[in-house]
Amino acid sequence: MGEVLVLVDCADGVVGRSAMELLTLARRIGKPSAVVLGAGEAATGIAAKVGEYGAAKVYVADGAEFADYLVVPKVDALTQIARTVNAEAVLVTSGAEGKEVAARVALRLGSGIITDAIDVQAGEEGPLATQSVFTASFQVTSRVVTGVPVITVRPNALAPEPAPGAGTVEQVQVAFSALAPGTRVVARTPRVPSGRPELTEAAIVVSGGRGVGAREGFAVVEELADSLGAAVGASRAAVDAGWYPHSSQVGQTGKEVSPQLYIANGISGAIQHRAGMQTSKTIVAVNKDPEAPVFELADFGVVGDLFEVLPQLTTAIRTRSGHATG
Ligand code: FAD
Repeated sequence: MGEVLVLVDCADGVVGRSAMELLTLARRIGKPSAVVLGAGEAATGIAAKVGEYGAAKVYVADGAEFADYLVVPKVDALTQIARTVNAEAVLVTSGAEGKEVAARVALRLGSGIITDAIDVQAGEEGPLATQSVFTASFQVTSRVVTGVPVITVRPNALAPEPAPGAGTVEQVQVAFSALAPGTRVVARTPRVPSGRPELTEAAIVVSGGRGVGAREGFAVVEELADSLGAAVGASRAAVDAGWYPHSSQVGQTGKEVSPQLYIANGISGAIQHRAGMQTSKTIVAVNKDPEAPVFELADFGVVGDLFEVLPQLTTAIRTRSGHATG
């Protein structure tokens, strides 16, 4: 079995959960090796962490290029490493940047690519990737038949499982291409921290729709989210009304989420909203209309007014977790 390269997502030296998920999948199809780019001094700690999830080798490349320019330096590095080690496959987290990096790497390697996989398994003739398509109406299993399979995997595809690996660090000198400085980062504006997890990575998402009625109405949604350590999402109707930021929109023209638990509150379940959340493992809907289409896809439904249901639910959760609000 050859090496399966996992591009590690890490911010401020913290390894994202998605990297641990990719390493868990990589172990099924080959020898997992992590690729850590532009992490500076944090690379040692990152290598130790990815070693806990089975990475035998950790390829570390550094340089100002990774921070100064968009995607191409990462593409240069990942392509170079994939060629050098004759990689069995390359796994990248599905996200705006991850998919762009993966597509460019596949092009350079002359390989096929599968995006937005929700599962990866070993197959007799190479890794098999499962995708959820047509607003999650079908699951498709595919295999790359040309070159090194490049697969992007949605966050929360599975629960990461630790498995000790050597985590041996190998420093890599990257020969950056002439294209690398093509797009320079000219400014960075830190996002105001909400204290909540990133929407696309969160294991639990609590969303509000038009039924929330107003910006202030989102308080009950946020309180429920905070009791569960969840991210807050919103339907397009709620976002267009100006009740919640556009960055929180879930759906066809918003973000795609696939958490372990999705709680839809005051959301009718339009097909464009479903497109962004239908692969969630468990779906709970709270809606006062028993005929709301959202109940067709919900695993559990509560017919009721969200302003009555959510505060009770929040209190019950806090009580069970030992943080009664009184
Ligand atoms: P509504 O459909 O108005 O539903 C509100 C629900 O709240 C109702 O079911 C009602 O019974 C319930 N309700 C009301 N009051 C309460 C209460 N007090 N307690 C409990 N329940 C209550 N939508 C998205 O969400 N994401 C997208 O990315 C997206 N992309 C789109 C792209 C295109 C091209 C188009 C045409 C549309 C798109 N839409 C998208 C819009 C989509 O079609 C719906 O209009 C939208 O999802 C409806 O949002 P909603 O469910 O919050 O509102």
